[in-house]
Amino acid sequence: MAKQVSRFTGLVMSRRDFRERDLLVKMLTASQGPLMFLVRGAKRPKAKLAATVLPFSHGSYLGVLHQRRLSLLTAANQVQQYQHITADLTANAYATYLFDLVDAAFYDGQPLGRWFNQVSSALSLMDQGMDPQIIVNVLELQLLSQFGVQPTWDRCVVCGRRDLPLNYSEENGGMLCANHFDRDPYRIRLDQRTTGYLQLLSTVDLTKVKAINVSDYIKQRLQKLIDTIYNNQVGLHLRSRTFIRQMDNWDSQLKLSGRKD
Ligand SMILES: [Zn+2]
Repeated sequence: MAKQVSRFTGLVMSRRDFRERDLLVKMLTASQGPLMFLVRGAKRPKAKLAATVLPFSHGSYLGVLHQRRLSLLTAANQVQQYQHITADLTANAYATYLFDLVDAAFYDGQPLGRWFNQVSSALSLMDQGMDPQIIVNVLELQLLSQFGVQPTWDRCVVCGRRDLPLNYSEENGGMLCANHFDRDPYRIRLDQRTTGYLQLLSTVDLTKVKAINVSDYIKQRLQKLIDTIYNNQVGLHLRSRTFIRQMDNWDSQLKLSGRKD
């Protein structure tokens, strides 16, 4: 059977050793989503392909693409590595989690359509030093639809009002206005600014973003809500996300112990 080699733009999601001399590299492609590639001989000294499949690399690759078995990587050019993401512990943790999230949201071989550019823009923005939490929050909110969860953020799900304070109700799959708070005693209380950011982040196009500045208070509120939705409604528990929460805790403990001095 003839093997068809295609050229594609790829993002290296993860990699691991395979057999004595080979690597398995998971890449995100636009046309076929996440795919697992065999990179033959990549662990040999002087193997040219090895440098093109370092974590957080992106560029133009050549290979034989398969959905249900290993794809084969044969050549690469114009490959670059996201430098800040590679070097910065926090950005690195968020980018790793973002790839895990994307891997969970799409099956191998699934065309990504507009999502590819959203993910690739997210990585570029993080690499430019933009707040990785907010960038990842955008994709966490927007990818909910891929998991079959589509909360209504901009109005009350009962009456459609937008002018009253809104709280989030998991049970009702979206916002409740003050007139309908009694529909869910377990609703998640939100202040108006957090609600505004939820509406902004759930619709923003990352390919057009230049800057988003959010206060620490709002960031905490946003993350708490998003974590609750992923835990309860999506049922997705990724180790890379737990790691970020642990980092946050170390961070706040360091700040606290700093204050005592
Ligand atoms: Zn209402």
